[in-house]
Amino acid sequence: MLITLSEAASKIKTTNKILITAHVQPDGDAIGSTLATMQMLRSLGKTAQVFIDDSVRKNLHALPHFEEIRRPSAEKFDADLLLILDTSPDRIGNVSKLTDAPILNIDHHVTNKGDGYELCVDTEAAATCEIIFRLSKELDVEITPDIATCLYTGIATDTGFFQFSNTRAETLAIASKLITYGVSPHFISEQLEKKSLAEVRGLSAALNSLKMFYDDKVAGMILDHETAKKFDSTEGFIDEIRVIETVDVAFLITEKAPNVCRVSMRSKGVDVSKIADKLGGGGHIRAAGCTLKTTLADAEKILVEAIGTAIRN
Ligand code: AMP
Ligand code: MN
Ligand code: MN
Repeated sequence: MLITLSEAASKIKTTNKILITAHVQPDGDAIGSTLATMQMLRSLGKTAQVFIDDSVRKNLHALPHFEEIRRPSAEKFDADLLLILDTSPDRIGNVSKLTDAPILNIDHHVTNKGDGYELCVDTEAAATCEIIFRLSKELDVEITPDIATCLYTGIATDTGFFQFSNTRAETLAIASKLITYGVSPHFISEQLEKKSLAEVRGLSAALNSLKMFYDDKVAGMILDHETAKKFDSTEGFIDEIRVIETVDVAFLITEKAPNVCRVSMRSKGVDVSKIADKLGGGGHIRAAGCTLKTTLADAEKILVEAIGTAIRN
């Protein structure tokens, strides 16, 4: 069921113990939005705790209160609301087993439809952190420099530092306000651009795997498990081939484990969220993903065919 942001705020106001979570394979928006919300709700005197069922890439560890994020265990968490950010409820891993509390979902993914749960979705928002900024106004909480840092990080990462097509005037207006609340943009950029030596070597392996399809309109990189396990993140790899001038759709397939192939897609025109949706994933028009539970060779075949069908239509 779809609800408005002010209805979401009313719901939050009437609850006291809130479990906050976001998607597995968390990005800057997932971590930034959950940590910002946790601080906002605590400032209202509520019990709020973030759980994420995954490891988090190192350059997000410097975010304020990062060390308080918990991973789910067998032990239940006493909550009267499960607040799910930046994803539909099907991508939160074992956090779903921690509580039977009602779900409130706040998201910006066009593939999230809210079937069977309360959803406040704004598909125009560049990041969930933009919506959380507006939520702070609805809840009348003060934006501290720590909260502003978390929100800015989510907006900066989901817009590729204000370069992607989801960057709107409103996005920059919010980012600008966050700077007045104490954000230091260059500090955040420097934290986020850091890569380990293993990651840079991984990028070189990924670039070596480059394959072109459909008259160079599609570019793909394929990382097998042996190569992928040497580094903890592939974030940003796909951007290196998205820029090829003939390319409309770029993809990266990473074999996370045998028969578990994680797919990322980026596009300059084609709606890749539809391709991802058909393959059991989701995302946005120009950035989407899914996981294909098959061999690397099969995953490539399935994906390239699906992209081919999309670009022909
Ligand atoms: P990524 O390529 O991992 O940066 O993901 C691009 C976009 O697609 C992000 O907004 C993700 O949240 C979304 N996405 C990626 N994988 C999935 C999935 N398996 N299911 C739903 N959405 C996804
Ligand atoms: Mn995300
Ligand atoms: Mn997001």
